[in-house]
Amino acid sequence: MNAEIIAVGSEMLTPDKVDTNSLHLTQELNTLGIEVVAKAIIGDDRQRLTDAIRNSWAHAELVILTGGLGPTEDDLTRDAVAAALEVGMTPSEEAWQAILNRFQKFGRTPTENNRRQTLILNGADMLPNPNGTAPGQWFHRDGRVLVLLPGPPRELKPMVAAEIIPRLTAMLPPQVIRTRWYRVALMGESDLDHLIAPIYTKYTNPATTILAAAGDIDIHLRARCETAEEAEALLAEVGDPIAELIGDKIYSTNGDPLEVVVGKLLRAKGQTVAVAESMTGGMLGMQITSIAGSSDYFKGGFLTYTDQMKTQLLGVPEGTEAVSEEAALAMAAGARDRAQSDYALSVTGFADGPNAGHVFVGLATPTGTHARKLKLNGDRYRVRCLTILNALDWLRRALQS
Ligand code: ATP
Ligand code: MG
Repeated sequence: MNAEIIAVGSEMLTPDKVDTNSLHLTQELNTLGIEVVAKAIIGDDRQRLTDAIRNSWAHAELVILTGGLGPTEDDLTRDAVAAALEVGMTPSEEAWQAILNRFQKFGRTPTENNRRQTLILNGADMLPNPNGTAPGQWFHRDGRVLVLLPGPPRELKPMVAAEIIPRLTAMLPPQVIRTRWYRVALMGESDLDHLIAPIYTKYTNPATTILAAAGDIDIHLRARCETAEEAEALLAEVGDPIAELIGDKIYSTNGDPLEVVVGKLLRAKGQTVAVAESMTGGMLGMQITSIAGSSDYFKGGFLTYTDQMKTQLLGVPEGTEAVSEEAALAMAAGARDRAQSDYALSVTGFADGPNAGHVFVGLATPTGTHARKLKLNGDRYRVRCLTILNALDWLRRALQS
């Protein structure tokens, strides 16, 4: 089954408002194995909306509309669907009762305008909306489905869960979905794709998606089969050779981000880490402590931006070049010593200016202190993110070795 989504509302054609409903719907549909093949945002314009609905209805097996179900004249979705599908509408007594009850609860009385919201396409099921006045609608004809849902996400989401997913599930052949994740640090997206594309492009099932952020790549495999055994076998057939090729650059196979992986390794060993940061201004400590329970293994950090602070707090010898291997070594050793931790990471470098991306990372361990020089590309934010990834991945490898 394939789907098209139409988000209705002129405000989403401005720079101020994003259509998030279609993202939520896509995620939910994908878990059922339904692919979204097109989506549109249409302003509050009767003719454009009617044209878009007619077009989607001609091409997709499932069409979902969100928004424009309010009580006012510029809420056009119902009328446009009726026109596009050439179906009449009838007021629903049940929908009117629901509106009366809702208004009563808030001590208000509905206006005649609210009657418009009770118009249901002939042959459609009314979908109750427990968090608003506009009911949804489910229209099923010749194996095709058209769904109307209200625009506010807090109304739409519960209706998707309670009404849409169960109805769609009942229409689909029985199937099992199994997934695999590989998270990869510090590999270029095109290098990675070049390496593994010869494997995954041979298969449509499992479907492979690659999501890349700065230096951090998620490979997601999703197999859809009649039985779990078949799905697992397909995942192994495609996933195992991919994992083999990427090797120890894979830091997680369950979706855990790097800071979680490092935290779990430290906790398992009963060991601790501290940080000494210059260029990253606390971002490394922030990343590590973004995980609940990180106090089990994170001792604390030193945010030493000036030479004077590096000397005062970490014992970096006076006169040490601020961005140098010596500084990174002394910062890591100083942090480990002063925090009394098993490990310490240090960062010093240039995030912008003529030497942008010129960075040193230090790692102090129970057996010695080391530093590495990095050459990173990008703007200030990206250089800082890549530095953190490098530091955490180095610690991960040290903990795994
Ligand atoms: P109402 O009865 O509240 O008017 P409605 O079904 O007519 O509901 P809209 O008027 O289109 O919905 O949208 C109401 C609000 O819901 C919008 O102001 C916006 O904040 C939010 N909204 C609408 N569509 C979307 C969307 N696709 N993604 C995210 N938010 C949306
Ligand atoms: Mg509205």
